[in-house]
Amino acid sequence: MGLGHLLTIKLILFFTGLQISKAAEWGFSDDNGPQNWPGICTTGKRQSPIDIVTKDLVESDLDSLDFDYYDVAVPVTMINNGHSVQIGDFNKLDMPIVLRRGNLPSTYILEQMHFHWDAEHTIDGVRDPLELHIVHYNEEFGNFTNAAEHKNGLVVIGILFELDHSDNPVLKPILDAIKLVSNWVGKSAVSIQKLVSISLLPENRSSYYRYQGSLTTPNCQESVIWIILADKIPISKKQLNVFKNVDGPDGPLKSNFRPTQKLGDRNVYYRQGYNGAFSFTSNIMFTILNIFLIRFLHN
Ligand SMILES: [Zn+2]
Repeated sequence: MGLGHLLTIKLILFFTGLQISKAAEWGFSDDNGPQNWPGICTTGKRQSPIDIVTKDLVESDLDSLDFDYYDVAVPVTMINNGHSVQIGDFNKLDMPIVLRRGNLPSTYILEQMHFHWDAEHTIDGVRDPLELHIVHYNEEFGNFTNAAEHKNGLVVIGILFELDHSDNPVLKPILDAIKLVSNWVGKSAVSIQKLVSISLLPENRSSYYRYQGSLTTPNCQESVIWIILADKIPISKKQLNVFKNVDGPDGPLKSNFRPTQKLGDRNVYYRQGYNGAFSFTSNIMFTILNIFLIRFLHN
C-alpha cells in the first residue's frame, strides 16, 4: 500500500469524524437548540412545524389516503440517535410499505418513524404531549437523502397523541423497545420482531390537515408535504414517561420539539373525512325518509 492510499484513508477518516461531530452539533439545549440552527432553518419561508388555526383552514376535496402494506407485520429496529427514538430499517424489507393517493404527486415509500415530545404541531395554540412522524420519500428520487433535496420529495404523516387515563396496549411493543435504548445514545439498534405499522395510526384516517413545509430538524429542507391526521391516539401518563426518560448526548432529553414557525403566505388545507360526510348524508336521508313516511301515513 502506497503513501497515496494511506493519505486517502486518513482523509476519509477525517471527513467521517467531521461529519459525526457536525451531526452532534445541533440539539435541543440552550446553546445548540432551535434558535441557533443553521442555514434555511433560520432563513426559510416554508418551515415546520406550524400552529394549525382551525378558523383559517381551506376546506378541500382531497382524496383519502391509501396506506398500502401498513397492515403487514414486519421486522424493524429501534435506535436512540440522540435527538429522538427512531424506528428504522424499513428499507431492508422485501416489499416496501407505501403511501398512495390523497392527490399526492407520486408514490411515497416508508423510510422511518420517530417521536417528538411534546408535539411539534399545535392546533389553535394547544400542544399535545406527543407526536409521531412517519417519514416517506418520493419513489422517483430513489432514496431518502436524495428526495429530501427536492420539492415534494418527502411526505411526513403526523400523528398526535392525547392524554388518557388508561394505558394504550397497542403501544406496548414500541415502549418496550424504547426502554431498551433509552440510555444507549447512538449505539446499535434493538430489533422489533413484528411491527404492524397501522397499529400506530388512529382508526379513522379519513380527515386530515395538509400543507407544504420542511423537516423540523437540521438541515430543515423545505421538501415536505405535511399531512397531520385529525384523529388522535390515546396514551397514558405512565406511557408518556417512557419518552421523558430517553437520554440525549448530554443526559436526559427532556423535550425534543421545535417551536412553531410562521405560516407566511401558505394555506393549510383540510380534508373532511368520509365518516363526517356520511353522518351528514345519512341525516339528510333520514329527514327525507321521515317526510316521505309522514306523507304516506297521511294519505
Ligand atoms: Zn420529526
